[in-house]
Formats: sequence, structure tokens, C-alpha cells
Amino acid sequence: MGTERNVLVTGGNRGIGRAIAEEFLAAGHRVAVTARSGEGPAGALTVRADVTDAASLDAAFTAVEAEYGPVEVVVANAGITRDTLLLRMSEDDFTEVIDTNLTGAFRTVKRASKGMLKARFGRIILISSVVGLYGSAGQVNYSASKAALVGMARSLTRELGGRGITANVVAPGFIETDMTAALPDEQQAQYKASIPAGRFASPSEVARVVTWIAGDDAGYISGAVIPVDGGLGMGH
Ligand code: NDP
Repeated sequence: MGTERNVLVTGGNRGIGRAIAEEFLAAGHRVAVTARSGEGPAGALTVRADVTDAASLDAAFTAVEAEYGPVEVVVANAGITRDTLLLRMSEDDFTEVIDTNLTGAFRTVKRASKGMLKARFGRIILISSVVGLYGSAGQVNYSASKAALVGMARSLTRELGGRGITANVVAPGFIETDMTAALPDEQQAQYKASIPAGRFASPSEVARVVTWIAGDDAGYISGAVIPVDGGLGMGH
């Protein structure tokens, strides 16, 4: 294992976030997760936070800092969908998704950067989606929120790169979680047919990429978009 780090994952009570927390724990790091409900995996510190509320995030970071010290690795994972076709998409459908997926990542990273700047070390990982750059009918809100994370990571890289801080995007394809279980069978079959790997992935396949990009060996990778999508979005 590399250096033991203090890690915070947003939305670590289920799905991909939980798998990421488990993977960091297995690698011997100190792990905290935010959760609106439920708990993170055994061995992780669970703190309550809603990423649409900066004050709750601030309190969560303060609690983690009191237990572990400054957060060195932050994974902005919390996300939602409100899928529907453009003409049916309300302004609330659009702004709720942006507020959680994009502004939520901004709030998380901004709070995390304080400790990282002081420590002159940090790993920022934003969980985007293949849909951010590929596009998806019925996901104008979600796709826009996920594409914007690329600009965010690249701007963070230019702003903070000289202080030992990297910022990267991990862009999963179709991962088996509650989010995708909610999709109609027909849509799932269509996705599967267009994925070169011919299958969906487990959350741990995303988690292992996230822990690697946070590791000591990945210190010269920043502003990158790392697909974990079985080839679905190739070349974008
Ligand atoms: P899930 O729906 O299984 O879990 C979403 C997580 O985000 C939950 O922990 C949820 O908390 C949390 N969350 C949602 N809104 C908020 C909020 N306002 N404040 C704090 N936490 C919140 O999703 P996945 O695990 O599938 O997705 C995780 C990330 O990966 C998301 O950003 C998603 O967009 C992305 N992704 C997923 C893909 C997939 O195929 N599954 C593909 C590509 C990207 P709670 O339990 O309290 O609701």
C-alpha cells in the first residue's frame, strides 16, 4: 500500500460511493462517507450531509477533520437523475439535478480544498458519467451536469496543480446500482447491445480505478477523464 490517507466520499451509503469507500478501506486508508440516510460500510466514519446544503457539508468536513485530520482525498460521488424528454422536463427537474450533481461537487471540492491547500497535497476525484460526453435522450439535465464536471476538473487542475493537488474525472458507463435498476428493461437491453464489452459493470470496477487515481503512483495525472465504460464512449 502507498501512503495512508484521509478520504471522504460523498454518498457513501450505497451504490458506487459505498464500493469506493470499501475499496479505500481495503487498501488501509482512513475513510469517511457522507450519507443523508443509512450508514457507510463497517470501518468508515459516517457523517450526515446533503450536498445541496453547504452548511451541512461544512459540518460534515469539520467532524471528519476532528476525527482524522484534514481530508486529503475527496470523491464527489453523490448524484441523482430526473430523466424525461426535453419538452416534459420542468425547470425544477433541470435545476435539482444541476444543484446536486454539479453545484454539489463544487461545494464539496471548495470545502475540501482548504485543507488540501494547507497540506500542499490533495486528490480530487469527480464522478461523472459516460453520458456527460456521449449524450443521452431524456437526460439533458443529467448529461449537462456531468459534462460540466470535466471543465471543473480542468480548471481545478490549472488553479491548484502547483500545490500538489490533482483533479480528475472518472466517467463510469453502465454500473449495476439502484440508479440503473430503475431504468426500463428495454432501455437496459439497448445499452447492453451498444457496449463493446457486452456487459454492465459492478461498482467495485469503478472503485478500483478511483483508488488508483488517488494513489501515490498517479501524482502526475490531472485534468484527465478516465472512462470505466466497457468501451461505450470510446474516443470522446
Ligand atoms: P445511487 O442512486 O445508487 O446512489 C446515489 C448516492 O448519492 C446515494 O448515496 C445518495 O444518498 C447520494 N445522494 C443523492 N443526492 C444527494 C444529496 N443531495 N446529498 C447527499 N447525497 C446525495 O447512485 P449510483 O451509485 O449509481 O451513482 C453514484 C454516482 O455515479 C452518481 O454521481 C452517478 O451519477 C454516477 N454514475 C452512475 C452510473 C451508474 O450506471 N450507476 C453511471 C455513471 C455515473 P441517499 O441514499 O441518501 O439518497
